[in-house]
Amino acid sequence: MRASGTLRSLSGDVAPRTAAGIGLAALEQVAARYAVAITPALADLIDRADPRDPIARQFVPDARELDVSEVENSDPIGDAAHSPVEGIVHRYPDRVLLKLVNACAVYCRFCFRREMVGPGRGGLTRQVLAAALEYIRATPQIWEVILTGGDPLVLSPRRLKDVVAQLAAIEHVKVIRIHTRIPVAAPERVSAAMVRALRSAKATFVVLHANHPRELSREARAAIARFIDAGIPMLSQSVLLRGVNDDVATLGALLRALVECRIKPYYLHHGDLAPGTAHFRTTIAEGQNLMRALHGRYSGLCQPAYVLDIPGGYGKSPIGPNYLSADSPSADLLTADSCMVEDFNGLRHAYPPPA
Ligand SMILES: *Cc1c(COP(=O)(O)O)cnc(C)c1O
Ligand code: SF4
Repeated sequence: MRASGTLRSLSGDVAPRTAAGIGLAALEQVAARYAVAITPALADLIDRADPRDPIARQFVPDARELDVSEVENSDPIGDAAHSPVEGIVHRYPDRVLLKLVNACAVYCRFCFRREMVGPGRGGLTRQVLAAALEYIRATPQIWEVILTGGDPLVLSPRRLKDVVAQLAAIEHVKVIRIHTRIPVAAPERVSAAMVRALRSAKATFVVLHANHPRELSREARAAIARFIDAGIPMLSQSVLLRGVNDDVATLGALLRALVECRIKPYYLHHGDLAPGTAHFRTTIAEGQNLMRALHGRYSGLCQPAYVLDIPGGYGKSPIGPNYLSADSPSADLLTADSCMVEDFNGLRHAYPPPA
């Protein structure tokens, strides 16, 4: 989708009614800096009468994106520091990211790679891809390869099939994972040929990025079923976003909708320090309170891990909440023999010391 066409339709249709009341001039300033695109599938989900529509909020540019705070960073999770060859990020010993393409079907306003992604930023050239695959071949501790981008499913089934076949031929690569927003952003792309392209003799997982229950439209659910029915299990990752999913009812509805689609919620990401995204970020305490509210009240199947990608390239860590505490205010949890554990109603119970 051409950015200029998108801009005009967003500004003429949705933007004047958004809370920020962004004008075309500000829109153009944002668009000059960050890619803008929305697909018909997601544009159709926008309620144009709602100035705070959670779908519009994720894709319609906002003047606040021009405010970059001191703590924000163009490489918020430190990919560059862990890139041994172009296209590869090798941060953890047993798995690598293979960034096949820097384009997406839609551009999320809170994207953690927003300085790297955009239309016209094509895929890796043949030579660069060959070198990236050679790095994986030459590194036996790589057990899993994660195809990401951008969105790898913007590539044609033919190109994906070629990459998957080359990865599947590497003896030490046992798992292939694909991170994508396509099943909700452009469900029609999940064709029989696309599904066939991803299948191989290796265990393959598709991880869907979805943030609001409305994203799981009838068409999106059908696309998801095409992967799962073909023997490709799915997980999900969501970003905790102010004004999109930062209340228990919406977040719970999203997680239940995912499970109803046979998707196991995997991660709830705390918002990254991407430039111009402060208006989307909650506090970590708010995130922990949401997780507490979900715990026990929603099926265990609906519980993602709440994670923070530590700025600087140190990796993701689960950030709670924690249900264990020392049994007296003066005791230290690490050295105490007994501890207290909190149940889902907030009551604390003693857990005895070892025999
Ligand atoms: C997020 C990430 C992974 C995947 O981490 P998991 O915890 O296995 O999902 C791998 N490599 C990099 C560089 C990442 O940022
Ligand atoms: S689909 Fe992913 S990589 Fe693309 S803009 Fe959205 S968050 Fe960023």
